[in-house]
Amino acid sequence: MIHNPISADAEVSDDVQRYDMYIAGSRHKPASGQYIPTDNPYTGRVWGEIARGTKADVDQAVAAAKAALPVWNALKPSERGRALVRLSDLIESHAGSLAAAEVRDNGKLYSEMLPQMRLMSDWYRYYAGLCDKIEGSVIPTGKPDMLAYTRHEPMGVVGLITPWNSPLLLLTHKLATGLAAGNVAVVKPSEFTSASTIQFAELFGQAGFPPGVVNVITGYGNEAGAALVEHPDVAKIAMTGSETGGRIINETAARDFKHVALELGGKSPNIVFDDADFDAAVVGAIAGIFAASGQTCIAGSRLLLQRSIHDRFVDRLVQMAGAAHIGDPMLAGTHVGPIATPQQYEKVLRYIDIARQEGATCVLGGGPYCGPGAEGGRFVAPTIFTGVHNGMRIAREEVFGPVLSVIPFDTEEDAYQIANDTPYGLAAGVWTSDMGKAMRAAERLQAGTVWVNTYRVGGYATPFGGYKHSGLGREGGVEAIKEWLQTKTIWFCGKPDTNQPFVMRH
Ligand code: NAD
Repeated sequence: MIHNPISADAEVSDDVQRYDMYIAGSRHKPASGQYIPTDNPYTGRVWGEIARGTKADVDQAVAAAKAALPVWNALKPSERGRALVRLSDLIESHAGSLAAAEVRDNGKLYSEMLPQMRLMSDWYRYYAGLCDKIEGSVIPTGKPDMLAYTRHEPMGVVGLITPWNSPLLLLTHKLATGLAAGNVAVVKPSEFTSASTIQFAELFGQAGFPPGVVNVITGYGNEAGAALVEHPDVAKIAMTGSETGGRIINETAARDFKHVALELGGKSPNIVFDDADFDAAVVGAIAGIFAASGQTCIAGSRLLLQRSIHDRFVDRLVQMAGAAHIGDPMLAGTHVGPIATPQQYEKVLRYIDIARQEGATCVLGGGPYCGPGAEGGRFVAPTIFTGVHNGMRIAREEVFGPVLSVIPFDTEEDAYQIANDTPYGLAAGVWTSDMGKAMRAAERLQAGTVWVNTYRVGGYATPFGGYKHSGLGREGGVEAIKEWLQTKTIWFCGKPDTNQPFVMRH
């Protein structure tokens, strides 16, 4: 249990908003009668309560989705596409309030969340265009009087489980594609940041989606989330979250042979060679780790510096990161916001202690930030450790906070060896002016995304996902639609055969 739940009849102050679940197009109160308080990481104050969903609520949400499946599939593909376009327009017109809801829950910068909402709108529009382009094929089999063709059919009810760092965008990576493929969904957002998803769900009604096509249950992972993963009528689970949560979900889903897609953690290397554009690489290193206070799966948390530029590069990093403006995430001039949850705050500080105990040298930050603009909030100062080697826990384990480990290397080969020596494989950056080296790096790095002379760029048209412990499956791009479909092969016989019933027809 993460927070102490409160009962439905407990007294609630006027400035606390209550969020019920969303099932079959209507608000749904939790069978438990309990709510989970949610606070603002910038002020530390509780501002809302989220319904504590349990198995009974999950059963209702899955039943509503199951009932909506034939209705959704009876629509022409172009009509499903139009519904997604209407949703995309509504997201654009509600972008400001959705972004503000996310900032209030997870403390990320409004200046990042607002463009994220616009990007989300583009995701739905992109997949809207694919609804009527899901084509099977006629397959030449070499058999006379036979026609074989394929159909790509939706899986049915899909369960979508999201984390707290970018709740709506990460939901969109799954939902836009899943709906375009003809599936219906039950969504379970993080217990820390459910409000924006509930607010977003209301837009489906306004966009004219049949009730039950999208449902939202809220609550704890090991309670509402687990009930969704275990539900026999759920065909696929797609989750973004931690390696620990992903492993439990994968094991549970495997028992029922459910399809599983996982977007998990990372410990991404950001490699700077001595021939790189120095200023651009410094900015890229900062963007890799201090954007979103390091609370992103693709954080370039291991900075690999070629030894000849190490000291000069670290000096510049310290100068630039040390000048970052820390404070209110709603203000345009803020560079670094708070840490989203109390548990995450403690975890980040614990890893800073571990790094010191392991013998790393702290050259910037190294603890809570309590300066102006941080009153009441959970802030960790941008922190840089040098003298890190790849065997240390600070170099191997995901911190998910504004903590950078700087690791020196000598040769190109050393860089690839250190970069790939990790259980993760989500992303990697490489900075060089030598195009041959850049191409070798792109081939050698074991990661789902490699950025050359840039970092933290993405979009709906490109596949995204992890190697190794960073996950299973890909999101984004045309190909991703196949991950939400199942293939059926149909054999048509033009000349029925009455011979040889005891052997397979060749
Ligand atoms: P988390 O694993 O604690 O929770 C993620 C979601 O899973 C939440 O909704 C939670 O309630 C649910 N959950 C947890 N245990 C469950 C269980 N046993 N059964 C069903 N549901 C369960 O992760 P988090 O702390 O919310 O998110 C941070 C993590 O997410 C980091 O590791 C980060 O790297 C990762 N992440 C990955 C990506 C990516 O695209 N690869 C993107 C963002 C975040």
